[in-house]
Amino acid sequence: MIDVIVTGAAGRMGREVVRAVTAAEGMRVAAAVDPGAAGTLLDDGAGGTINVTADLHEALAGSGQRVLVDFTVPTVVESNVRAALDAGVHCVVGTTGVGAEGWAGIAEDAPEGVCLFVAPNFAIGAVLMMRFAETAARYMPHVEIIELHHDRKLDAPSGTAIHTAARIAAARGEAPDAPGRETEVFEGARGAEVAGIPVHSVRLPGLVAHQEVLFGGQGQTLTIRHDSIDRTSFMPGVVMAIRGVVVRSGLVVGLEELMDA
Ligand code: NAP
Repeated sequence: MIDVIVTGAAGRMGREVVRAVTAAEGMRVAAAVDPGAAGTLLDDGAGGTINVTADLHEALAGSGQRVLVDFTVPTVVESNVRAALDAGVHCVVGTTGVGAEGWAGIAEDAPEGVCLFVAPNFAIGAVLMMRFAETAARYMPHVEIIELHHDRKLDAPSGTAIHTAARIAAARGEAPDAPGRETEVFEGARGAEVAGIPVHSVRLPGLVAHQEVLFGGQGQTLTIRHDSIDRTSFMPGVVMAIRGVVVRSGLVVGLEELMDA
């Protein structure tokens, strides 16, 4: 039995994690931590409730197979993860907004034998979208990304867009110029430049998490689009990661590392 400590448990993603862990075999919610919502009773999706607590260090005390799942905010995720790794607790991190170097540094400081798993996107369809984009980029190097999220998302561009851009840049080799930046009428009109690829961020109520990767070639375009229309889309990936970290160690980035294992 894997004991799962959920941080950000009362948030939009955390609530889904509590339900998904309760429904999955071989794991249970050992603690649901969210200081601003301490005392709240969360619906576990199975007819019961889970009490939200405030103290992560108290939740980390214990033994056996333990995994922290963090869907919080960019300003607290690193200290949550450091505390968990120091306590010998494997980590599954969904919180975005921390760069690859940040995670590498934290993993370096971690004790031997614990695993830090970070994924910019836990939806299997999004992982496939990135893989297909990587393949297309080898043949159609002119590419731009549009990512669309709900209006309460804190970071921009999304972690998925940054990860997609990095993978495309590595796959396509020589990069064509993205024209028009020098002649923008309004600054930012051509988007942010990530690994040489223009990335455009849309934030609107009603959206969940969506991304289009647009390729242009002579007389043709190719659009690869993924839509998470509900936060449950991320949960099979989260459960896969919880099972994955207990048999791994060190830093692992991206759900694709577990899907192909
Ligand atoms: P959210 O609804 O704002 O939830 C975050 C929760 O964390 C809030 O309840 C917040 O409480 C709580 N929190 C703040 N400080 C905390 C602390 N020190 N310890 C424990 N909990 C704390 O946000 P969300 O929509 O669930 O998203 C959370 C993160 O997941 C974001 O970074 C988002 O980009 C990311 N995300 C990733 C994926 C993926 O597939 N990788 C998918 C969706 C979202 P307060 O409200 O009191 O501050």
